[in-house]
Amino acid sequence: MTAREIPYKIYLDESEIPTAWYNVRADMKNKPAPLLNPGTHQPMTAQELSAVFCEDLVAQELDNDTRLFPIPQEIQDFYRMYRPSPLVRAYCLEKKLQTPAHIYYKFEGNNTSGSHKLNSAIAQAYYAKKQGLKGVTTETGAGQWGTALSMACAYLGLDCKVFMVKVSYEQKPFRREVMRTYGASVTPSPSETTQVGRKILAEHPGTTGSLGCAISEAVEVAVGTPGYRYVLGSVLNQVLLHQSVIGVEAKTALDKYGVKPDVIIGCAGGGSNLGGLISPFMGEKLRGEADYRIVAVEPASCPSLTRGVYAYDFCDTGMVCPLAKMYTLGSDFIPAPNHAGGLRYHGMSPILSQLYDDGLMEAVSVPQTRVFEAAELFARTEGILPAPESSHAICAAIDEALKCKESGEEKTILFGLTGTGYFDMVAYEKFHDGRMDDYVPTDEELAQFRARLPKID
Ligand SMILES: *Cc1c(COP(=O)(O)O)cnc(C)c1O
Repeated sequence: MTAREIPYKIYLDESEIPTAWYNVRADMKNKPAPLLNPGTHQPMTAQELSAVFCEDLVAQELDNDTRLFPIPQEIQDFYRMYRPSPLVRAYCLEKKLQTPAHIYYKFEGNNTSGSHKLNSAIAQAYYAKKQGLKGVTTETGAGQWGTALSMACAYLGLDCKVFMVKVSYEQKPFRREVMRTYGASVTPSPSETTQVGRKILAEHPGTTGSLGCAISEAVEVAVGTPGYRYVLGSVLNQVLLHQSVIGVEAKTALDKYGVKPDVIIGCAGGGSNLGGLISPFMGEKLRGEADYRIVAVEPASCPSLTRGVYAYDFCDTGMVCPLAKMYTLGSDFIPAPNHAGGLRYHGMSPILSQLYDDGLMEAVSVPQTRVFEAAELFARTEGILPAPESSHAICAAIDEALKCKESGEEKTILFGLTGTGYFDMVAYEKFHDGRMDDYVPTDEELAQFRARLPKID
C-alpha cells in the first residue's frame, strides 16, 4: 500500500476534537514529586491546596492514577470555537532547507490570545465558575496567559485580576488593552497593592519585575479576597493535563496518515505546551509500545533543564506558594531581559522534570539571536509570524532537519508552534537593527542562586 499523499494541512473534523484529557502521570513509573507545604515540608493536602486553587483543579492536580479525564461539555463547546488546531506539513520549509526530513508542526496560535494557553484557561475558569466563585487572579509575563484567561473569564462571566510583569506592562501596552477589552483588570507587578509587592519594591527599587513576583502578588490577593482563587498558566500538573488536547489531536491527525514522528520538539518555559504535545506519545513510550526522541528547547539565558538542579524550590519569589520538586535555577533568579517572556520562568513542570531526570527526554538551549534567525526564516517560508517562544522550537527543528540533510536520513520531525508574534515586534525590531544581545549567565552566577535553594531533607 502506498502512503496517502499528505496534505499541507491535516485538519480534523469537529467530531474528532478530544472528549477527554490524557493524564500522562497514570503511565509514569516514577511519579512527579508532590508539592510540599512551605512551612511543614509535608505534602500539601487537598484541603490546604483548596485555599488557593479551585476544588476540581486540586483533585486533578493530585491525581496520579486516573488516565482519562472527560472534558466537560461546556469546555468542549468552547474548544469548538478555535479547535481543532491545524497540523501542518512544512513542505515549504523542507524545500528551503533542502532536507530529506519530513517536518510537521501543530499550530496553536489560531485564536485571539495567540497561543496554546487558552486550552487551560477555559478549563480553569470553568471549574472556578462551577464552584460558584466570583473571580480569579493570576500573573502574566509576556501577556499570552493573561489574555487567554481574560477571554475565558469573559465567556463565563467571571472577574479576572491580572498581575502583569512590569517590563511587559510597559513594553506591550497593546497586550494590556486586549486584556481590558475582555474585561480584566491589569496591574503592573511588583505593585503597591499587595504586601509582597511592597516588600519586593522596598528591597529592589526600580525592579522591572519577574513572573515569580507576579505570582506572589496574585496568590496574596486570591487568598485574601472572598470568592476568589488563584489560577496558573503553566508548570502545574493540571495545566499539562488540559494541554494534552494538543498532543491527542496531533496524534489523531498523524495516525490518519500512518505517520510516526521520530523526534518531537517543543519550547519549554514552565513546560505546559511541551508536556501537552508529548503526552500521548510519552504514554506509548512509557508503556513500551513505541519510542520517540523528545526534545525540550529553552533559552540559553534561562536554562532550567540544561543547567539547573533537580530540587525542591519555591514556585514564586515571595515564597508563599507550595514547594515543587523541579529543575530550577532558584526562585530569585531573574533572567537577562530576553524577548521570550513566556520562557523566563526559573523552574520547570514537575512532570517534565521527572521525565527528564529519568532520561525519557532531552533538553537543549539556544541563544536568542539564533532563535530570531530561525523565526525569520520560518516567517518567510511558512508564512506564519511566530512568537519568540515558539521560535525556540523552530530553531531546534531546523537544526534537526539540517542534520538529516548531512546524513541523508529521512526522519520525521514534529514540533509545537505555540503561538504568533504580533505583539513581539519590538523584539523583532531589535533583531533587525542588530541590537539583540545573547547574554548567557555564568556558572558563578548560577551557583549564587543555587546556594539559596531551600534545604529540604
Ligand atoms: C507561555 C508560552 C510558552 C511557554 O509556556 P509553556 O508552559 O512552557 O508552554 C510558549 N509559547 C507561547 C506562545 C507562550 O505563550
